[in-house]
Amino acid sequence: TFEVVFVGRSNVGKSTLLKNLTGRNVRTGKRPGVTLKPTHLYFDDFLITDMPGFGFMSGVTKEKSDDVKDNIVHYIEEHADRIMIAVQVIDGPAFVEITERWDSRDEIPIDLELHDFLEEMEIITIIAANKMDRVKDDEKDDLLNDVVGIFGYDRGEGTWKESGALVAPVSARGGDIRPLISHLKNEFHKMKRDDLFKHF
Ligand code: GDP
Repeated sequence: TFEVVFVGRSNVGKSTLLKNLTGRNVRTGKRPGVTLKPTHLYFDDFLITDMPGFGFMSGVTKEKSDDVKDNIVHYIEEHADRIMIAVQVIDGPAFVEITERWDSRDEIPIDLELHDFLEEMEIITIIAANKMDRVKDDEKDDLLNDVVGIFGYDRGEGTWKESGALVAPVSARGGDIRPLISHLKNEFHKMKRDDLFKHF
């Protein structure tokens, strides 16, 4: 099995993105944050896993939200041998503000913790910066420069494109997900699994 996992806090547009990418519905009427378990999409020996959304949600206690994070970490540890790629979905325009809020409380944002964890697990991680339709064209590069900086990539004098981070600015609702598709295609190719591309 070749597995790709999708992670991200609630409401970043993960379901919309998966629907766009695969044509299949991942979540049917489940309330965000209430689901603790991953959802699977099967394509022969190719598996796409939608991890539960994490972070604070109205009507969900802090304990439950920590449970979601623990479940994600355990799942990834348990299946590390077959998880080849992670797509970490963030709400592009909201991301900087969310991490600043965490910073002011001296907590490590779950997104960053998870990104570091995926790196430790040697899982190739693509950052899908979603909702980019909400960002003005001339502000997109600045935002993405901040995003890679927050994730800890050193871009030197360059932009996010030179940082080494795999960043895909997308708009799932607008159906503009080409940057994510090209990153996936590229990684499949490097792993000699070009055949998997037919599923998108
Ligand atoms: P999930 O909780 O991460 O699975 O998020 P959903 O896919 O349910 O989307 C959460 C909300 O964000 C919904 O209201 C979507 O319509 C909206 N949304 C998803 N993708 C985009 C996008 O690319 N742009 C904008 N502006 N909104 C989006």
